Amino acid sequence: MKKYAIVGFGCAGYRAAEAIRAGDGRAEIHVFSETGEAPANPMLTTYYVRGAIGREGLFPFGPLEEIIENLGLIHRAEAVRRLDPAGRRLELDSGPVGPFDSILLATGAESLAPPVAGLDHPRVIQMRGSADADRLKAIMGDAPPESVLVVGASMTGIKIAELMHAAGLKCTLADLAGWIFPLAALEPVGRRIMGRLTEMGLTMGFGLALEHITPHGKTLTARFRGGREIEADLLALCLGARGRTALAREAGLAVGRGITVDRAMRSSAPGIYAAGDCCEAPEIQSGRPAVIGLWANAGLQGRVAGENMAAGGAGEAAPACCRPGVLQNLSHFFNMDFIGLGDVRRATGETLVFENDDYYLAAAGEGGRLNCLNLLGPPYGGGILKSRMVRAFSGLRDNPSEQLALLAQYGLPGDFLAWLDQA
Ligand SMILES: Cc1cc2nc3c(=O)[nH]c(=O)nc-3n(C[C@H](O)[C@H](O)[C@H](O)COP(=O)(O)OP(=O)(O)OC[C@H]3O[C@@H](n4cnc5c(N)ncnc54)[C@H](O)[C@@H]3O)c2cc1C
Repeated sequence: MKKYAIVGFGCAGYRAAEAIRAGDGRAEIHVFSETGEAPANPMLTTYYVRGAIGREGLFPFGPLEEIIENLGLIHRAEAVRRLDPAGRRLELDSGPVGPFDSILLATGAESLAPPVAGLDHPRVIQMRGSADADRLKAIMGDAPPESVLVVGASMTGIKIAELMHAAGLKCTLADLAGWIFPLAALEPVGRRIMGRLTEMGLTMGFGLALEHITPHGKTLTARFRGGREIEADLLALCLGARGRTALAREAGLAVGRGITVDRAMRSSAPGIYAAGDCCEAPEIQSGRPAVIGLWANAGLQGRVAGENMAAGGAGEAAPACCRPGVLQNLSHFFNMDFIGLGDVRRATGETLVFENDDYYLAAAGEGGRLNCLNLLGPPYGGGILKSRMVRAFSGLRDNPSEQLALLAQYGLPGDFLAWLDQA
């Protein structure tokens, strides 16, 4: 009987467990989870704090006991401290475990925190998992703040701003960059979103580098380089996330911004796989590995890793593979849907803006060949546009002709479709 280990039980770990069980009905599947909770969906945390869903709504795959029973898992609510790749063993505080036939690292990511004084104040929050959400919910219930400063105009930052604005707080959004979503938005779209947020009553503070935070009674003063100060009752630090790679790095595996894997989710050490926010996999635009920190991506990578782990030797010869990806962001906030495709830092060619009553789009590229696209408007057509982008990066020019007709049905601007049609 084969023995598999999964370290971290989020979306990637859960999908891997499902795939291993589907491929090997008799296997021992050992899951190690530091939270001891069912796999949670971090993107639902702000809905829970707001009261739109109950706490059980954070766990889309159901209660832990049911998952353990349905998938036949051996689950331990304990953090893994060390990985021995050669021996395929793990070390916990309670002692060593293993050997395993293969091990999946699905340890996710953690929120970034800069080295500035004052971050340990109880009214400075971050948002990653259910424990962060519980903490913010308690703050909002005990002595609700009247104002919030969100530092970091990231996808998490906008969700916190939306939550606080809906709760009636005076809200300021600050970032070192010149416009919102600096890693995902082309300038015209970033500025359009900032304009809409300003109209809704939020204050924008861009080009500001946080230096330190000082408490004064129940208020916090955030001081920025150059001397500007912003006061708020609550400070949300939303500077992005970094893959949790310590186990892999300390074990000598190849690690860049995440644990480096191939399209079969194999790390540089035989029998050790990685999936989800902790790993960097081949990305087609740059031709280099990249972290794509999205829920659906974590699930897909987990499933592929699980299939290959269960296939054992046969999988090594003909592994399941993730399709090549491009960087993408999909988010809904303040009644806006944003789709970002491609790497803003590689946005070459001219940046063109197209708009009609429903859509505001910025596209970078040449002759209808997209290398970066932002779309604000109804969330349709993203799949088609992503597929055109992937085909362009693959050197393919024969786009299916019905795509443009479908995009026209969705109501995308005619001049944008005419531009795309040149490709
Ligand atoms: C606030 C917020 C909003 C988001 N919004 C969106 C969105 O709108 N759309 C979208 O697609 N994605 C969104 N995301 C990203 C998405 O949630 C992640 O991409 C996805 O959850 C990653 O899943 P994962 O399994 O890789 O990692 P995680 O969900 O982070 O799970 C990893 C698990 O491993 C555990 N772990 C780590 N180290 C160890 C160890 N040594 N031992 C044992 N356990 C360990 C962790 O505690 C954690 O439970 C959002 C994320 C956040 C935080």
